[in-house]
Amino acid sequence: MFKKIFKLFAIVLVVLFGVLLYNTITLNSAIIPHKTVEIPANKDSSAIHLSQAIQIKTVSFGDTLPIDTTEFLKFRKFLETSYPLVHSKLSRQVFNEFSYVYKWVGKDTTLAPYVLMGHTDVVPVEAASESKWSVPSFSGAIKNDTIWGRGAVDDKVAVIAIMESVEQLLAQNFTPNRNIYLCFGHDEEVSGKRGAKIYSAWFANNNIKPALVLDEGGQIDQQHFKRLNKPVAVIGTNEKGYVNLDLMVEIPGGHSSMPSPETAIDVLNKALVNIRAKQMPGDITPTVHELIKRTRPAESFMSKLVLSNLWLFKPLVMGQFEKVKESSAMVHTTLVPTIVKAGIKDNVIPSVAKATINSRILPGQTSDEVLAYVTKVVNDDRVVIKKQTISIMEPSAVSSFESEPFKKIENIIYASVPNVIVSPFLMIGATDSRYFRNNSEAVLNFSAVQDVKGFHGIDERIGIKDLQRMIYFYKEFLK
Ligand SMILES: [Zn+2]
Repeated sequence: MFKKIFKLFAIVLVVLFGVLLYNTITLNSAIIPHKTVEIPANKDSSAIHLSQAIQIKTVSFGDTLPIDTTEFLKFRKFLETSYPLVHSKLSRQVFNEFSYVYKWVGKDTTLAPYVLMGHTDVVPVEAASESKWSVPSFSGAIKNDTIWGRGAVDDKVAVIAIMESVEQLLAQNFTPNRNIYLCFGHDEEVSGKRGAKIYSAWFANNNIKPALVLDEGGQIDQQHFKRLNKPVAVIGTNEKGYVNLDLMVEIPGGHSSMPSPETAIDVLNKALVNIRAKQMPGDITPTVHELIKRTRPAESFMSKLVLSNLWLFKPLVMGQFEKVKESSAMVHTTLVPTIVKAGIKDNVIPSVAKATINSRILPGQTSDEVLAYVTKVVNDDRVVIKKQTISIMEPSAVSSFESEPFKKIENIIYASVPNVIVSPFLMIGATDSRYFRNNSEAVLNFSAVQDVKGFHGIDERIGIKDLQRMIYFYKEFLK
């Protein structure tokens, strides 16, 4: 009897190993050897233009705060004088004063157009961090083959690279096959409500359904894929959802010299601790699955074995993703308090305590599920939890990585970046392109820059080579 059980166990084990090995060995390779072109790193007029663009302080201070219109006007003038062919051969529409849509008429206007996006606004530099910069933050200094300053990466490099590539092609009397739109919003860093939201609605209202919308988001990344020893170019194909939850506790306050056992702050605090204690159940969604599939061939044998057999090792792989905040956000809905308010005076116990929880929703989940989950873990009727209806965005649909535009972008990357792996990617943050997701089947997020540094932080900068690669990328794409 014992022998029989042992035999059966051995057979099961052998079959299991057979399956694991089979899956590991037969994985299809995504690493395609390619000949690549050499991108030069000349300090030419494009580098000067980006430097000049950085020096104009087109700052978005906050959703309800005013902008410095003189600077935004200066930026418009700068574009007009730096790119004369663009401004004489393309038509331009202005939305809400400072957002621009340029139209380049192609040979066949019956084809659905392509949209190239960028934004001209930047985040402010905190006064306290100014002294920590290696160069003044809006200097646009060029040193060590690098252009420095706020907006160098996010997102003036895209605006300049798009303009440079079109200007250069116009100088060669080039006409694109289809209509091309260049769209530059001026409030991406606060909400996009005055820029991208309005001009994307103009496309929808005029029945213009772009075959592709290409915006910032993905890039060429080696720093997050160190163990692969090769760069991975990630192209955003879908975005997580977005919802804010308001929490409110009302308990009569009083004098701080004789507190009752539980105050409004105590109850709210407990609720926040419970929300943060455990993550919402996550998953490996199709986009992340594809990323695993494509990078897998570059892994060690043991990693390959694990990654090729997610049916068995999914919890293990999820655990690996959860170790790093960036990858953890790719497999979970995130929940984090961003605003907490209570109290007006040191000796008064407040009767109201409020908090806002910001959540980025994983594809496959909904804002209703987030609300239900938070209500469950808080498990206290004294905490009133409501969704802020104004900001809700459910997770987007996935733009196919089998589509023509995706493959086009993929091929240009393979041809210009040595040894690269290209993969679709789940966007964990929001961009202006989200406003196009209901009006185009292919909304993709990619900038041909590598391991960019300092965006939204100190010493934001971009290599001249990255700028040149972006210009090359857009030119190839337009051709
Ligand atoms: Zn940006």
